[in-house]
Amino acid sequence: MSYTILDASNLEAYLFSLPKIKAFFDADSLIIDEIGDGNLNFVFLVTSSSNGSRQLIIKQAVPYLRCVGESYPLSKERMTYEIRSLERFAQLSPHIPKIYHSDEEMSLLIMEYLNSHIIMRKGMIEGIEYPKFAEDISSFLANTLFKTSSLYLSSSDKRTLVSQFIGNSELCKLTEDFVFTAPFMEDETNAELPELSDVAERIANDLELKTKILHLKYKFMNQSDALLHGDLHTGSIMINQDETYVIDSEFAFVGPMGFDVGALIANLVMSWVSHTVQDNDSRYSDLILETINSVWQRFDEKFRTLWNETEESALLTKGFANDEILKSYQKQYMQTLLQESIGFAGCKIIRRQFGIAGVEDIRGIEDDAVREEANRLAISIGERFIKQYHTVKTTDDIMKLIKA
Ligand code: ADP
Ligand code: MG
Repeated sequence: MSYTILDASNLEAYLFSLPKIKAFFDADSLIIDEIGDGNLNFVFLVTSSSNGSRQLIIKQAVPYLRCVGESYPLSKERMTYEIRSLERFAQLSPHIPKIYHSDEEMSLLIMEYLNSHIIMRKGMIEGIEYPKFAEDISSFLANTLFKTSSLYLSSSDKRTLVSQFIGNSELCKLTEDFVFTAPFMEDETNAELPELSDVAERIANDLELKTKILHLKYKFMNQSDALLHGDLHTGSIMINQDETYVIDSEFAFVGPMGFDVGALIANLVMSWVSHTVQDNDSRYSDLILETINSVWQRFDEKFRTLWNETEESALLTKGFANDEILKSYQKQYMQTLLQESIGFAGCKIIRRQFGIAGVEDIRGIEDDAVREEANRLAISIGERFIKQYHTVKTTDDIMKLIKA
C-alpha cells in the first residue's frame, strides 16, 4: 500500500486488509487508542472489542516531528531504519517485542503489546527495582553489538549491513546537532535556563572539554563498529520484574559501540543524580551504581565469550593470532570500548541538561533549587566523563568520576 497516514478513521480497514492481522483479531471490531507519548511518531494500541487480551501496537512515522507539527519536517523514512534494526536485533536477542508486520512503504510497524511492562525511566523515577535488568540488557548489548561487528561478520556481510543503514542520515544529523553541538554553545534550540548561565558559559569556552567533544563527535560520525540502537536511554526500554524489552530504534545506524553502552550509562547516572538530590537515604542510588557496575561487568564477560566462540571473522583470519596475541588485543579492545562509552555518556548527560530534550528524572523535579542542584551535579559528572574518559580502566574509575 502506498503511504497513507493512519488514524482512528482508517486504521481498522487497513489492519483488516492484512490477512495475518485480521486473523489475529478474529475479524472482530477494534477499539483504537492513540497512546504515543514520544516526540516523533504515532503509536496506537488496538484491542479486539470482544476479547480484551487480543491487543497489538501499531507505530507509524509521519513526515514531520510529531511534538512540533507539520512545520518541522522530518522524513518518514526513519521508520525504515527502525524496522530493519528491530528485525535484525530480534534475530540476535529475545529482548525485542514480537514483530507481527512491517511495511517500509507505509513507515509502519505492528508489534506485540507489552501489557505488563512500563517505560523504565518512569519506574526508576518511582524507585522501582528491576532485578533482571543488568543481566538482560548486558545480553542484549553483547549479542547485538558483537554479532553486527567485524569481530563476527564476514567482510562483505558487514559492508552490506552498513549499506542498509547508511541512509538514516537525517536522524544521525539530529544526534550530531543535539548531542554533540548545540548544548555546548549558545543556540536557540537550547532550554531557557538563566540559573545555569555561569556553567553554560564556562563550558562554551572550555578548550579541553570542547576538544574532547570534537574527538567524540568525530568517532560518532566515522567509526562504523556495529549496528547501534542509536538512542538507548531508559525511555526506550520497557520493563517489569521479569522481562526487559528494547523499543524505538529509529536512530539505528552502524556506529561506535560505545555510543549505545554510553547512552545507557548516562541515563543510569542521571537517575542516580535525581535520587541523590531527592532521597533521604542512599539505598536506591547505591543500587543504581551497582547496576552500572554490573551492566558493564556482565557485558564485558558476555562479549568476550562470544568472541572466544568465534573462529573466524572479517577481522580475525584463522592462524593470524595465537591465544596470547588475541587476549592482548581483546584487553585493549574492551578498555577502549569502556572509555568511549564514558566519553559518549558525558556528552549525553550534559546535553540533557542544556539541550532541547531533557530527562523527566531531572526536568521533572518541581523544587527549583533541588532541580538546579541536580542540573549542576549532572553537568559536573558529564564534564569529568568527557575530560577523563581516556583514563578509565575499570568500573571503579567510573564510580570515582561519578562521586568525585
Ligand atoms: P517515539 O518514537 O515516538 O518516541 P516510542 O517507540 O518510544 O515512540 O513509543 C511511544 C510510547 O508508546 C512508548 O513510550 C510506550 O509508552 C508506548 N509503546 C511503544 N511500543 C510499545 C509496545 N510494544 N508495547 C507497549 N507500549 C508501547
Ligand atoms: Mg520514544
